[in-house]
Amino acid sequence: MEHMRRRALPGGSVQVLRQTTVALSIGFAAILACMLGSIYIGFQHLELTRGAWQRDAFFREKVRSAFLMREAVRERSFHLTFATTMDDFFDRDEQRQAYDAKAVSFLLARDKLVDYHMTLAEKTAMDALLKRIGELRPSIDNAMALVVESGNNDQALHQMRVALDGQVGVIDEINDFIKVVEAESKHEAQVAAREISETQRNMLILSGCAVALAAIIGIMVILRESRNTRRLRCHRDELAALSTTDALTGIANRRRFDEFLGEEWARAMRSQRPLSLIMIDIDHFKNFNDEYGHAAGDACLSAVAKAMSGVVVRSTDLLARYGGEEFACVLPETDDVQAQRIAEKLRKAVVDLNCKHEKSSAADHVTVSIGVVTHTPQRGDELARVFERADANLYQAKEQGRNRVIA
Ligand code: GH3
Ligand code: MG
Ligand code: MG
Repeated sequence: MEHMRRRALPGGSVQVLRQTTVALSIGFAAILACMLGSIYIGFQHLELTRGAWQRDAFFREKVRSAFLMREAVRERSFHLTFATTMDDFFDRDEQRQAYDAKAVSFLLARDKLVDYHMTLAEKTAMDALLKRIGELRPSIDNAMALVVESGNNDQALHQMRVALDGQVGVIDEINDFIKVVEAESKHEAQVAAREISETQRNMLILSGCAVALAAIIGIMVILRESRNTRRLRCHRDELAALSTTDALTGIANRRRFDEFLGEEWARAMRSQRPLSLIMIDIDHFKNFNDEYGHAAGDACLSAVAKAMSGVVVRSTDLLARYGGEEFACVLPETDDVQAQRIAEKLRKAVVDLNCKHEKSSAADHVTVSIGVVTHTPQRGDELARVFERADANLYQAKEQGRNRVIA
């Protein structure tokens, strides 16, 4: 009872509700934070992937430009070599024109290459390449001019070899540059792959956290709900029990008695089986209270109820506190002989309590007077009449000296 009253305190419920709301709010905020973090990292992931693609595209463009430069240098070497084998000035001049055209494609490729963003290592390699080209260019250009002017004489041939060596040097520089670009690109790709997989992992962790939090909150809500439902059911059952129980004696109250008697009256009418009603009244209880006080009176009422409960043990019977110091007993399917026997047992149970009562005319201990009625209800019979008969018998028991059963 005390326990129930404590749980029913509205303040407690409000506090629990507040705690639940705070916990849910924190949970949802955490889920939101995880989701926002995940989205942010998702954008980072996209950005990194896009950057990696772009760098890869730039790498291909750089290598392509370097290849074009190398191709132009090779073809220039070919035209220079070819020009030295020709006797005719015009044929040599034709080779020079092709040679110059290749110089243009070389320069176009170089200018394009210079425009790309370079890493430090690429820039160093590029500078070395450009420096080498700058050093060798005069001798290369001079060689073709000499070959065109004077044909394949010794001086021209010598100049051609010097120029060809220079071209080989340029090709070596271009190859070195390509290697540097490849190495840098490989390194950058590795870094990007690491960063991308890191963002993927972080994204997975955050989304996993969000899912786990949502699951935990879901389980918490379900558990709390089922606990609340259980508590409510418990409260309801306790309230139902309270509403039919007498607070002082713990036996059925008047409300339960009326309900029970109504049902059994109808059942007895259907089955045409006898129904017995016993009315019990403590003798001179006013005197008892006056002599020993109300607290002792309450204790006596409880003791009497307990003693009589020991007699009414059949699950189909009901003993109730009818009101004040009066009790009533309903015995379905019980004839008058059985009912009188039980009534006598009830009276004796109270006598056996041997609860001192010096102000009673019936005995020097607490006693009860009992009126018994047995009736098989017929259509049209009124329950009130049965009560009147039981009351009349009880009155007679009082009249005849109390502490007795009248049927
Ligand atoms: P009788 O033998 O004729 O029945 O006499 P009585 O004094 O028992 O009858 P009466 O109706 O005059 O008095 C009943 C008394 O029962 C009055 C009241 O003080 C007492 N009583 C009724 N309910 C309670 C209760 O819950 N606790 C206590 N202590 N006394 C109660
Ligand atoms: Mg009375
Ligand atoms: Mg009385």
